[in-house]
Amino acid sequence: MSHSLTPSSFSQILCTWQKQYGRHDLPWQISPTAYKVFISEMMLQQTQVTTVIGYFERWMNQFPTLSSLAQAHLDDVMHLWQGLGYYQRARRIHQAAQYIMTHHKGELPQCLQALQSIPGVGRYTAGALLSFAYNQYGPIVDGNVRRLFCRYFGIEGVPTTRQVDQQLWDLAERYTPTQNNRQFAQALLDLGSQICAPKKIQCDNCPLKSSCYAYQHNKQADLPTKKPKKVLPEKKGYFLWTVKENKLFLEKRPQQGIWGSLWCLPQINEDLIEQYGTPEHAFDHKFTHYQLHAYLIYPQNIELTRGQWFTPTEIKKLGLPAPIYKLMSKSLKFLS
Ligand code: SF4
Repeated sequence: MSHSLTPSSFSQILCTWQKQYGRHDLPWQISPTAYKVFISEMMLQQTQVTTVIGYFERWMNQFPTLSSLAQAHLDDVMHLWQGLGYYQRARRIHQAAQYIMTHHKGELPQCLQALQSIPGVGRYTAGALLSFAYNQYGPIVDGNVRRLFCRYFGIEGVPTTRQVDQQLWDLAERYTPTQNNRQFAQALLDLGSQICAPKKIQCDNCPLKSSCYAYQHNKQADLPTKKPKKVLPEKKGYFLWTVKENKLFLEKRPQQGIWGSLWCLPQINEDLIEQYGTPEHAFDHKFTHYQLHAYLIYPQNIELTRGQWFTPTEIKKLGLPAPIYKLMSKSLKFLS
């Protein structure tokens, strides 16, 4: 029968393990500042570390300080984010930088409540900032911690439901130590992603195995409890491809909705197709909530009003949805 460790033994074991096996050389871990931690944490939401590294380095070259980010044009911010997905995050980072300049004299605050009032900063990011930037008490629960805790403590139920989520945060609060916070938080993320991984679980190398519920009961594959599978609804999207004198007509999308604030081919409603031409299937793209089947229409002699014409060189500097940019790049005549 497994028996969970006390919070102090738990953190001690994790920190010792992290020292020897964890990650220490990620670009945001080297001379960490609150700004570096903030940007990396926002980028790491829903995105793999290996993907984030390049983006993070380019970001720091272009916006080395919070004030340079706050003063930047949103288009430049979106351009740098291109390909990372979940574009809402880029807009939020920009807003957050402006908010911190106005309300906190350009310094990220060191208090959980004040951090959570910054646009885009939720409970996890606030805890991560306290731990990683300030080495202070800051409980964190992300996908890695959820998986690790559900297995280690034997928590049943879908982890994103309110009740289980609350249970996980309660445990995080109890098990987060009052010192070595940077190392403890990194240990949770490293152990969760490298050892207590979603598929290739390495229990034999885990420092927690002698007190782990899932290991003792052979329930690693059953925990965390999986969400019942949902079939994604499908939608069709119709986009206009209009070229004149080697310039392509693009429109800035509204802030809300998919690809918000990015430049894109103008999209039209299904009832207007006939007016513009025959749609040709171009690509499919999976969003969290639906699957998009995108079609292109090549209209002749039409009046376009809401957007602008761009040359290929100008297009390369815009923030565009990755599948749309890919589509443009394939048209070699146009973007070479
Ligand atoms: S023993 Fe296995 S299941 Fe338990 S925490 Fe370690 S890796 Fe995860």
